[in-house]
Amino acid sequence: MAKEQVLVTGAAGFLGSHLCDRFLQEGYKVVGMDNLITGDLRNVEHLMKLPDFEFYHHDVSKFVHVPGPIRYILHFASPASPIDYLKIPIQTLKVGSLGTHNLLGLARAKGARILVASTSEVYGDPLVHPQTEEYYGNVNPIGPRGVYDEAKRFQEAITMAYHTYHQLETRIVRIFNTYGPRMRLNDGRVLPAFIGQALRGEDLTVFGDGSQTRSFCYVDDLVEGIYRLLLSDYPYPVNIGNPDEITIGQFAEEIIQLTGTRQKVIYQPLPKDDPKQRQPDISKAKKILGWTPKVSRQEGLKITYEYFKSLPTDVLYHREHKDFDKYIQ
Ligand code: UDP
Repeated sequence: MAKEQVLVTGAAGFLGSHLCDRFLQEGYKVVGMDNLITGDLRNVEHLMKLPDFEFYHHDVSKFVHVPGPIRYILHFASPASPIDYLKIPIQTLKVGSLGTHNLLGLARAKGARILVASTSEVYGDPLVHPQTEEYYGNVNPIGPRGVYDEAKRFQEAITMAYHTYHQLETRIVRIFNTYGPRMRLNDGRVLPAFIGQALRGEDLTVFGDGSQTRSFCYVDDLVEGIYRLLLSDYPYPVNIGNPDEITIGQFAEEIIQLTGTRQKVIYQPLPKDDPKQRQPDISKAKKILGWTPKVSRQEGLKITYEYFKSLPTDVLYHREHKDFDKYIQ
């Protein structure tokens, strides 16, 4: 019997590339799609020769065509770092809205089940802690993160509309901060920022006083949660993340320990609308999917550090965001 086909958008990105790996392992044929604005072909280089993997260089905010039947669509194309949103706000809005619309249309045409990547950013700077799926959020639509947050909120709305109006099989995952190999080293996100700084012998830049919290999930745990959600019959949003919460100040200390850097922490202004605390309530994922994260931060950080250490020097010193300061106000 011919293998079933899966479409992964954002395939050359951090999460997309890990999803391609997983679906190939599970015995599917995978079509990976990416416009390479923030994705990197190096993330899927190891798949290019496989007969079951095909790469399409395409922007999903334009009409999407894939020949043949498709069983599952996983929509993971989107910039995903606060600095990206500031540099490419229109593309961020388009991929979450027009891109999602195109993929929902494709799913309908193919009779495919679609899972869309939503985010803890739908909760904005949350006033409820930890965040359950029932919380509606506290989002500033016209703030620097608004282009991402509102695109993702629209994405959830249109996905639910296709589910109720067209009876499309849809799944929505709300992803909390995730890390692991193939994260972009210089996208401005805190973990690659700190590790990159340690590797280059620079001081670690903590924004604000470092009392804001995040909860970091290792990528393999996230992929497992997404896989289970896709195969479940639950159409409503599900939080997937690791509830182990830490302040950014403590996190910087952990990176200093991990890397053995002699550098110190320096403080910079907190970017506008930076959420003060974030921690997923994962009761739903536990109950519905029987899922909990397995990888501790200590284990996950070690693997991730090894990955960043193995990158070529030109990648380590390539500054994507030279004009960083201009964007963080
Ligand atoms: N952050 C920091 N130093 C950096 C980059 C980020 O202190 O060099 C902080 C940022 O202000 C935020 C947290 O780390 O409070 C997580 O930032 P990130 O961009 O990784 O993701 P977010 O969860 O804010 O979307």
